[in-house]
Amino acid sequence: MQKKIFALKELTKNLWWSWDTEAKQLFEELSPLLWERNNHNPVELLRHISNDELIARCHCKYAEKLDRVYARYQAYLNEKNTWAALNAPELVANPVAYFSAEFGIHESVRIYSGGLGVLAGDHIKSASDLGLNFIGITLFYKEGYFRQHLNHDGWQMEDYPLQYPENLPVEKVTGPDGKDLIITVNIAQSEVYAQAWRLKVGRATLFLLDTNIPANESHYRDICCRVYGGDQNMRINQEIILGIGGAKLLDKLGLQPKVYHMNEGHSAFLTLELLAKEIAKGATETAAMATVRSRCVFTTHTPVPAGHDRFSRDMMHYTFDKYLTSIGMEFDDLMKLGSEDPKNIHGLFTMTVLALNLSRAANGVSKLHGQVSREMWQHLYSDKKVSEVPIGHITNGIHTSSWSCGLTDTFWKNYTGSVDEMTLSRENAEAALAKVSDDEIWSLRYSLKRNLIDFIYRYLANQLFHQHTHSFYNEYDVMRSAKNTLSPDVLTIGFARRFATYKRAPLIFSDLDRLNRIINHPTRPVQIVFAGKAHPHDDAGKDYIRQIVEHSRRPQFTGKVIFLENYNLGVAKRMVSGVDVWLNTPVRPMEASGTSGEKNVLHGGLNFSVLDGWWPEAYNGDNGWSIGNGEAFENYEEQDRFDAQQLYATLENQIIPTFYERNEHNIPTRWIKKIRNAITTIAPQYNTHRMVRDYALRYYLNQEEK
Ligand SMILES: *Cc1c(COP(=O)(O)O)cnc(C)c1O
Repeated sequence: MQKKIFALKELTKNLWWSWDTEAKQLFEELSPLLWERNNHNPVELLRHISNDELIARCHCKYAEKLDRVYARYQAYLNEKNTWAALNAPELVANPVAYFSAEFGIHESVRIYSGGLGVLAGDHIKSASDLGLNFIGITLFYKEGYFRQHLNHDGWQMEDYPLQYPENLPVEKVTGPDGKDLIITVNIAQSEVYAQAWRLKVGRATLFLLDTNIPANESHYRDICCRVYGGDQNMRINQEIILGIGGAKLLDKLGLQPKVYHMNEGHSAFLTLELLAKEIAKGATETAAMATVRSRCVFTTHTPVPAGHDRFSRDMMHYTFDKYLTSIGMEFDDLMKLGSEDPKNIHGLFTMTVLALNLSRAANGVSKLHGQVSREMWQHLYSDKKVSEVPIGHITNGIHTSSWSCGLTDTFWKNYTGSVDEMTLSRENAEAALAKVSDDEIWSLRYSLKRNLIDFIYRYLANQLFHQHTHSFYNEYDVMRSAKNTLSPDVLTIGFARRFATYKRAPLIFSDLDRLNRIINHPTRPVQIVFAGKAHPHDDAGKDYIRQIVEHSRRPQFTGKVIFLENYNLGVAKRMVSGVDVWLNTPVRPMEASGTSGEKNVLHGGLNFSVLDGWWPEAYNGDNGWSIGNGEAFENYEEQDRFDAQQLYATLENQIIPTFYERNEHNIPTRWIKKIRNAITTIAPQYNTHRMVRDYALRYYLNQEEK
């Protein structure tokens, strides 16, 4: 019996469970309430359940399930014939080190803010599944990213609950002497120390650097406090720990990565540490640069110049003074590496420029974004035409099994081996779909939407209770009164993402009368669910949230326009599986890729999006809808007006009629045809297994060079 309990506890120590449906059920079954309350964190869950209870419950069906899951876990860890072993053995022999300021792996590990982190999380999971020797590097943010509450006025309030290592599946990294492994990094005139934590993600390892240790001066302890917290000074310090600290950690562990992959420019300082090592070995500066370049690849994510990290010359000087002395590098040489114009080294230091200068290959994250990036950085390569600028693209994907839920997973398993197998190729997806009837797809849609609605009411009860302690019962009752209830019969639109203003969450409210006619149509109504966080310093984004909450309280929208607070990976999973249509309204071309629309596909959701990011590549006229045709206006108001018109017209003339058009068995056959089309054209392409295979073959294996 103790052996079984040991196995259960062992499963909690590797985030592999987070993408295995049956493993998640093992934890949830122990106590659905505690599972929900503890943010689906099995380490915390088991701290609340006594050994006596575990012994009593590890019997019969539960024990069988545990054995099955544990055997699958062991088989996974010991698998020899992985994709990498068969196709890229060099990437098994030597590790790839992937640096990212955030990783969104599971909602219980709050070291991410949004899309960039979710991408990194999905990347590391696919790298593990495919068998790459893969190491992630990030920071251990004690407070993580904030938890969002809305106050009575719909204004975002942030709080930062602490994350304790003992509640997470992390272990301290120790040296050969058994003591904590500590690395030392120079910042300004100080030595800053960091310890490291190890987090297992399937076969991959994620290292988290942590400066919150007594050896540090107090203002340096806070470096690893909040994801993207603080000012520019905090930012540069975080990036030094991530880049230079990360490179030092790998060195100290005796790891020799074949490739260093910088996910966004935040980690680009790692190149300085690699340069320093080469120079210390006696290489000339030119030779050192060539060596470093041959080992680094860089992915850029930001299609607007203002979004790139830049530091003033003064700040660079102040921060790097001692470090440069220690590695024997001139300050002006450093500035040259990060200046947009190498002849003017008195301006700003740009992390993207440093990363581009010291990587052998660089890429944007969609076809359109690759093009935009080549235009944006052409001035760094004045001898080249835009088309020759050495920035390619690999379009982002999602980790399919992480984004399918219990229902969807079981559904597709009836027709194919697993969702991974189904999305391996278009042929596989078509073969699975050929076995599924329209009735079955429609039944799946109803079940998923019912699940979402049930979830929303449980969630709202809690949310409204905090928001309106006085008028709570009133508000909640109004929302649930028969005429206002959400219904699975109704076309349901979802919109959830970071509330960066370019994503234009309130666009659909541009014309309230028109929206009222759409939502409250007597026979073809619509309901909309929103969620999203604004960055704590972004008052304009917070005002967008406030506007939506205000709209949701108008009598005509009450109970039909819902805002769910505290968007995170868990809420995202619920939403993408339940809604019929996923709405995406960025100002083109500001969405580098976007991935949330890729998450709904296997659930039978359809995308309705501006032709931005991944969507222009994926959209074929039959697998969803576009908002406009990529038209661009000089003036923001004009753009908004135009896009809103397009949005309403497509909704009224195409989406709503298609959804409510039924055959004699009450099945919307044209709608389901679109679902089938979306599954065969999107799911096999826009997933991270395909994406990581692309990175591996084209970038990690040196096959594509500048
Ligand atoms: C997928 C996801 C994102 C990214 O969505 P975009 O479409 O790229 O904006 C952000 N946050 C969470 C929690 C997600 O799951």
